[in-house]
Amino acid sequence: MTEFPQRTTSKQRTMAAVNHVSKVYRQGDRSVAALLDVCLTIADGEFVAVMGASGSGKSTLMHLMAGLTRPTNGDVTIDGQKLESLSDRKLTHFRRQHVGLVFQAFNLIPSLTARDNILFPLFAAGQKNIDESELDDLADRLGIRDRLTHRPDSLSGGEQQRVAIARALITNPAVMFADEPTGSLDSVTGQSICELSRRLCDNEKRTIVIVTHEPSVAAWADRVIVLKDGKVLNEFATADHGDAQSLATHYHRLVGPREPAIA
Ligand code: ADP
Ligand code: MG
Repeated sequence: MTEFPQRTTSKQRTMAAVNHVSKVYRQGDRSVAALLDVCLTIADGEFVAVMGASGSGKSTLMHLMAGLTRPTNGDVTIDGQKLESLSDRKLTHFRRQHVGLVFQAFNLIPSLTARDNILFPLFAAGQKNIDESELDDLADRLGIRDRLTHRPDSLSGGEQQRVAIARALITNPAVMFADEPTGSLDSVTGQSICELSRRLCDNEKRTIVIVTHEPSVAAWADRVIVLKDGKVLNEFATADHGDAQSLATHYHRLVGPREPAIA
């Protein structure tokens, strides 16, 4: 496996801060409070799982932290930058430079090869001189070096998600947000994506936030933040729970035993 220059991190430093954030969606004369007065911080180099039942506000929280949407109240700071103070254009620019995004459905462009999908954020940012060796190193570390010429439809789900992770990391972002990244994968492939994320955090000092409703995914993180009905219900260190089963028991005790399988 190729070595990669590590991001210098300090766990004392805050990478993401969510300060009294609420998000209300309006649909006609109805309004849905997806998040209510949420406060949390994520340290530089930390791997955090955000858990909660379907509809608890996980995706909304991730979208707010990633700067994809703006809060109704409160503010979000990423890598020292208060997102609220940025214009829409500057926010888009900031997001492209500082945030990596990974989704459940991979969201690759079908007509592009894996290589061009990975490089897409650089092309979108207008970068013309591409360092091929950096791409090859990244692809190596993600185990997809021999898949770069393939289009998404000839890649397995796990390979497509690795390509999506490479695309998220090609700009060397301060933080990677992944919304249910294992939700479309079988459990063995899902676990290999978790293991990869753990390695990215340990070896490359990346800050990673994974949204999931699966305890077996959250168990790979350093810390779990549990949402319920748009509020932070609980936070705990995974180290306090020896294995995924014990974490699952604790989680279900917190949110109640029954939870829909679909997020
Ligand atoms: P989760 O990811 O935990 O399933 P979401 O953040 O997607 O939760 O949704 C939280 C709540 O906000 C849900 O009640 C959902 O229906 C609502 N919601 C999410 N996005 C929108 C939207 N664009 N418009 C209206 N309501 C929304
Ligand atoms: Mg969701």
